[in-house]
Amino acid sequence: MTPFDTVLVADWSAARRAPAKPSKDAIWLGITRHGVSLDPVYCRSRLEAEAWITDLIREETGAGRRLLATFDFPFGYPAGFARHVTGSDDPFALWDWFADHITDAPDGSNNRFEVAEKLNALFDGPGPFWGKLHKDQWPGVPYRKEGIRFDRIAEKRACDSVARAASSCFQLAFPPTVGGQVMMGLPMLSRLRRVQGVRVWPFEDWTEAPVVLAEIWPGLIEPAVKAAMADLGPGAIRDREQVRLLAQALAHLPAADLHAAMTDLPDEAREEAWILAAEHRDTLTTLTRHPPSPLRNDCFALPPGVHWTPVAEALDLLRARLAPVTKAETVGLADALGRISAAAVNAARANPPLPNTAVDGYGFAGGRDAGAHQMPLVHGRAAAGDAPGAVPDGHAIRVLTGAALPEGVDTVILQEDVVVDNGTVRFSGPVKSGANTRRAGEDRKIGDPVLAKGDRIGPAELALLAATGVGAVQVRRPLRVGVLSTGDELVQVGDQASAGQIYDANRPMLLGLITQFGHQPVDLGAVADDRAALRARLDGAARTVDVVLTSGGASAGDEDHVSALLEEAGAMALWRIAIKPGRPLALGMWDGMPVFGLPGNPVAAMVCTLIFARPALGLLAGSGWSEPQGFTVPAGFAKNKKAGRREYLRARIQDGRAEVFASEGSGRISGLAWAEGLVELAEPALKIAPGDPVTFVPYGSFGI
Ligand code: AMP
Ligand code: MG
Repeated sequence: MTPFDTVLVADWSAARRAPAKPSKDAIWLGITRHGVSLDPVYCRSRLEAEAWITDLIREETGAGRRLLATFDFPFGYPAGFARHVTGSDDPFALWDWFADHITDAPDGSNNRFEVAEKLNALFDGPGPFWGKLHKDQWPGVPYRKEGIRFDRIAEKRACDSVARAASSCFQLAFPPTVGGQVMMGLPMLSRLRRVQGVRVWPFEDWTEAPVVLAEIWPGLIEPAVKAAMADLGPGAIRDREQVRLLAQALAHLPAADLHAAMTDLPDEAREEAWILAAEHRDTLTTLTRHPPSPLRNDCFALPPGVHWTPVAEALDLLRARLAPVTKAETVGLADALGRISAAAVNAARANPPLPNTAVDGYGFAGGRDAGAHQMPLVHGRAAAGDAPGAVPDGHAIRVLTGAALPEGVDTVILQEDVVVDNGTVRFSGPVKSGANTRRAGEDRKIGDPVLAKGDRIGPAELALLAATGVGAVQVRRPLRVGVLSTGDELVQVGDQASAGQIYDANRPMLLGLITQFGHQPVDLGAVADDRAALRARLDGAARTVDVVLTSGGASAGDEDHVSALLEEAGAMALWRIAIKPGRPLALGMWDGMPVFGLPGNPVAAMVCTLIFARPALGLLAGSGWSEPQGFTVPAGFAKNKKAGRREYLRARIQDGRAEVFASEGSGRISGLAWAEGLVELAEPALKIAPGDPVTFVPYGSFGI
């Protein structure tokens, strides 16, 4: 069986149009592509979801990827139902019957209860459909199940008992219910199955189909969903996590298990359909928690037939396929600087914990109108850290910035605005009630989010964590990035260089970049253009680092051993990216470890590291995808740029304009040092005159 490249899990819904803000009770779509989970997609209505899925089918088949599209509602009814309604055992006849009878508006209003009444009328006695939103509506649909005899048609399908699914497709209300979803889902399936390349499991021959539609039931992984919700805390949306986990588990289900799940089926499945992997609930549940390796061997494969990949497309591919590879650990705040949060963190204490004064002054209760006021002062004062006593009504107390407000005080007047004499304080109003005070929890309340998963912890985050009483955080282990130079011509600084040799400039540069990106650099030295030596070095690296950056030998020439070796390992893709400077990038997997084969040329090596390796390393490290921030500035240069590729020029800002380095020669390392950033020129042909707007990306935007 050809494996599936992409898995979709759709959490269908019979409800009306959902709110714009992602919430439950809408449609959530979970997608895993090449083993990597994408952000679940939120659809407010069935029509929106159907359009999205249709586009996905076209996109995946267009790119030559095989798609398994699963839906969380029964694809069929219990045996005998289809014949009774349509006169045929063919489940597709029933799909088309529903497509003909169901109406569904963009606002989600639909006629499912009217259609249920029509179906019930075809059967003797009450039912089989039951359950409704309003007791007094739809007289043809009983409110409760009592009295319905499921003798001719069973209440549940054979697979519902195997999977221990709680609900029957005849139940139209009261959770857990699936009946409405089936009625609102089958018309959509009836349309989708007519899209080019689509086959339905298990009703027709799906074995080599580019797109297979199948039924799934999220209840199979319920323990994993529960655990994830507990981990993620109160803000998480259950349906969203459910589709994400299920898509991930299905994508990682071993090929043999998936094959067995799709082929070993009882006869009932031909009419009633079946829940995919109903017999593999434990395996699926485990896979949601421990995906074997987050990266697949073919994770760098390019769509066939592409010769020069645009930069944006190359970045999209990296973004879609890479996932965090580092494990989590818990560290105290003292060790947390620069680390990446592995889980969301909520405030353990409110900030501020008590209402307090924002200024030095005098506190009392209630505001004061315009006019002159005088109040007796109580003895003593409240300073920061004091435990507040009580202040009688009509009295005032001296308060110092940060002091918790004593009982009976909710307003503070600035000391500059009062006259104190003889144990009283005098001032003129108005003073607004609550003036110059901070409310308890006005910054963060207990339980408010203070850190998101993937945030890098900087000095400001440390302050927030400390203020909200968080002493330890779960962080990712640092990403270990190996740096390896290749080439017979290289000597190391400090050694004697003979004619024809050059000093290894890339290694110190790349190690420096890794350090500044916040990862852990690992110096793997340099190797000659010798395949055996390179192989040994990569083998060693695979045991000690998470990812390797090599430079040199990445093209397709005789001495390009990095690409040759990765090719040999069967896990290499030579990315010809439409970028200048830059030669092909050799991206591959070596024993489960991603390898970025950078060009040897130092200028190209640095630019490719900033543009491609930096965001990719961020994903591997668990900090998510990041894009450098560029600024539009007037050009301080003129240039005629050819069409077809994106160009990066070494640049710096002089008198508010972007100057570029005198030579675009890619061996000119001095230009890298001269520059303070890069000017980015888009793919089309450009004629730039001084003063024209260009995009300048400072080195700082790349984190260096
Ligand atoms: P290659 O990609 O191996 O064909 O190398 C392209 C150019 O980059 C050649 O001129 C190499 O000598 C040069 N080069 C390769 N590696 C390094 C390095 N580590 N430091 C400086 N130059 C290098
Ligand atoms: Mg070389």
